[in-house]
Amino acid sequence: MEFEAVIGLEIHVELNCATKMFCDCPNRPGDEPNANTCPICLWFPGALPRFSREALEKAALLCLGLGGELQPKSAFDQKVYYYPDLPKGYQLSQAHLPLSRGGGIDIEDEDGQTKRLRIHHIHMEEDVAKLVHETEGRTAISLVDFNRAGAPLVEIVTEPDFRTPHHAMEFLKALRTQVRYIGSSECSMENGTMRVDANISVRPRGTDQMNTKVEVKNMNSVRHVGDAIAHEIARQTACVQAGEAVTLHTRLWDPDKKVTVPMRAKFEGPCVPDPSVPSIELSSEEIERMRTRLPEMPASRANRFVVQFGLTGEEAAHLSADPEVAGYFDALIGQGIAPRTAMHWLTTQLIPAVRERKQELGNTAVTPARFAALLRMLSEDEINANAAREVLGHLFDSNDAPEAIVGARGYRQVSDSGELEALIEKVLGEHPAAVADFRSGQGKAMGFLIGQVMKASGGKANPKKIGELLACKLLTTP
Ligand SMILES: [Zn+2]
Repeated sequence: MEFEAVIGLEIHVELNCATKMFCDCPNRPGDEPNANTCPICLWFPGALPRFSREALEKAALLCLGLGGELQPKSAFDQKVYYYPDLPKGYQLSQAHLPLSRGGGIDIEDEDGQTKRLRIHHIHMEEDVAKLVHETEGRTAISLVDFNRAGAPLVEIVTEPDFRTPHHAMEFLKALRTQVRYIGSSECSMENGTMRVDANISVRPRGTDQMNTKVEVKNMNSVRHVGDAIAHEIARQTACVQAGEAVTLHTRLWDPDKKVTVPMRAKFEGPCVPDPSVPSIELSSEEIERMRTRLPEMPASRANRFVVQFGLTGEEAAHLSADPEVAGYFDALIGQGIAPRTAMHWLTTQLIPAVRERKQELGNTAVTPARFAALLRMLSEDEINANAAREVLGHLFDSNDAPEAIVGARGYRQVSDSGELEALIEKVLGEHPAAVADFRSGQGKAMGFLIGQVMKASGGKANPKKIGELLACKLLTTP
């Protein structure tokens, strides 16, 4: 019998708000432990939560960007359980009336077909504290850091539409790109601002039964999610084939051994409406006002790059995958740079140079205006490509305009025929063998001679011009 997997994801995304969800403490979990705390987020008895408007707006924008329908009324519940990272005994979450329902993401499946993976709902939730396990002498101790307590989260709960690890990985990559565009979170699994739980079950292929699922946690990269799901599908399939029952429980992914290991029986505490946070009511005007704040999303941006600038679908998708790259590209076009030149120099020269210096495209000293000035000198034949690459290096360390750097460091391209002809005469005189080779029909001798003239010019000659002058010389003089 052939089996197929039924997979749904639950994705926690930490919103990049300035403050926590229910108090004014800074939302910076990485600071000195317990530096960002107050009676509200230490969850002292009697302290009343005050819901953050910024958290609502960032969450709502995220929902709209993922195609969700913001609900006219949503409310917080207390998800009741006790754990040392949740000493107040409940987490504020939305169980009954989530902020948004519906939505989804289109991905390309293994056969290149578009597949819609639906979102069931998106709700808001406060994060819990963080446990730090250490040893003091020979005693194992556990410490609690409340910097993360009350940090604003949304949880994206999908429909069980996924069948393969590929579906899950593509969904997460597209989700990350889209949320970065929306600007509500950086969505990094590596840094913990996106955390993914996968619910997995198996069934005979072609049936529509829903069997007992197993929850897998603790994956900290998109690749790990794929590996963990693949492992869990194989493990459950073997279980079923051996006639064993799959039980409802939670497993942890062990990235070193590449296996899932049982953690605990899955526990779902009761959820009761919270009396302290007022319900959230959004008028249709407010929802429309938020919708106008949505940026152009990656798919429509890629489409515009194809239609407006004649890029291929693949080039456009590549450029629009990162909002900073796409924004930079648009800025270069705005400065009058030809689309292909902009794309080529941005992706093959600037981005690698920025990465090498461990900078971000958004705040490097090489602003679109300065980079465009450099590319303009290149298109107008004032400098050649070699010089442009070198000037780019200087742009990182100096605030001078590219024109000034070119002038001061003597990068200006030599296109003057008289100057070039003198160099050509000299090179032809020095390399009679290459000249003879060229005349006997060996084309590659031309490349050698161009290289020699370029060298003689200190790398500053216009290679196209040398080629023209050389051809003219060699073909006309005996
Ligand atoms: Zn606080």
